[in-house]
Amino acid sequence: MVRNGLNMLDSQMNQVFESRTNDVQLIEFKQDFFYAPGFGNVGVVLTTEGVVVIDTCISPEHAQKIYKEIRSRTDLPIRYIIYTHGHMDHVNSAEVFKENETTVIAHENVVDRFKKYQILKAHRQRIGSVQFDNKTTDVKKYDFTYPDITFHTDYEFKLGEKTFQIVHGKGETDDHCFVSIPGEKVIYSGDFFISSFPNIGNPLKEVRFEREWFESLEKIRARQPEFLVPGHGDLFDNKDTIQTALQDIIECLRFVHDEVIYHMNKGTSLEDMLDQIKLPEHLEKSEYIQPHYGCLMFAIKGTHRRYSGWFDGNPTNLQPAKQKVVAKEILSFIPNQNAILEKCKQLRANGEYQMALHLIDLLVFGSEESEALVLKAELTKKLSETNENFIMRNIYKQIAQRMVTENTHK
Ligand SMILES: [Zn+2]
Repeated sequence: MVRNGLNMLDSQMNQVFESRTNDVQLIEFKQDFFYAPGFGNVGVVLTTEGVVVIDTCISPEHAQKIYKEIRSRTDLPIRYIIYTHGHMDHVNSAEVFKENETTVIAHENVVDRFKKYQILKAHRQRIGSVQFDNKTTDVKKYDFTYPDITFHTDYEFKLGEKTFQIVHGKGETDDHCFVSIPGEKVIYSGDFFISSFPNIGNPLKEVRFEREWFESLEKIRARQPEFLVPGHGDLFDNKDTIQTALQDIIECLRFVHDEVIYHMNKGTSLEDMLDQIKLPEHLEKSEYIQPHYGCLMFAIKGTHRRYSGWFDGNPTNLQPAKQKVVAKEILSFIPNQNAILEKCKQLRANGEYQMALHLIDLLVFGSEESEALVLKAELTKKLSETNENFIMRNIYKQIAQRMVTENTHK
């Protein structure tokens, strides 16, 4: 059973902080196979010749405790660290686990990702604090532990009695892989599987890869795992449940991809696509793809963006004037600007926060009316409080807070 996605995400985020005071759990779900829940999950496999760590989580303090747990079970060296991909929550604390004999393995694109993060450090910190509600800001560092071994498609190695297969596929990132220990029917999936609607079309991040994502999930499904450790969230330890969950996510991603492609060929505008594309009922109800992290709207926008340019087809928007200039022009022939403010308050009272935002922008951009900015901050806060999607909720919350701060320091 999947825990309520939003609560689960919140508790994982809190774990980043709680790990400073609380003990971690290193859960053995099958002999020699472990995972430590957190943000994100850390996989640990014991072999007769050493330890393999899969992903290293975001918080070094949390990682220290996991390392201690490993050391309470074995004296054998950590021989390998595998990154399922280069996102911070999977690589940030690698140095905690890295010993003299440790080899770090990752897909070749992880190297480019690390370089990109370094040149965009200030930007990444800013969007990271928005998406994760400031909860990861002080644990992220940008001096990455680069991989010693990189691979292009697949990489396989043997350690002790176990074989590890690392299989690349694009998905949430272009540097993604899953780790399969075939004889044991165990898969560490990284973020190919996160117990939420897949994170396609994140509003703050670069494009993701819906088609390759479901193709990779098909590869995971064909291996018929009995245990699946996701990048985030609880372990799946029932073969049938794993198949059902994978099936739902595969269908969902395929559906989004095929629908967007169909509509693009038909010439449907993005705005109309968002209106017309509805998930089939069985997918909408699936507990494995509830819209707590990704969601259908993000996915349609993300897939559309991947396959198109920025022009939306409206000639007004090819070389648009600045929002400020347009708003001033409109306001110049509206004698009673107070009426706009009053209408916005009315909409707020009716819970029509989005429409109120559209109207209030006329005053925010076109006048010096400070009450308009205060109202906009309130509306944005309301949207945060009423949204069940982790990313949208945090975007609204963080921006509302910034508007208040900017206004009070004027
Ligand atoms: Zn992750």
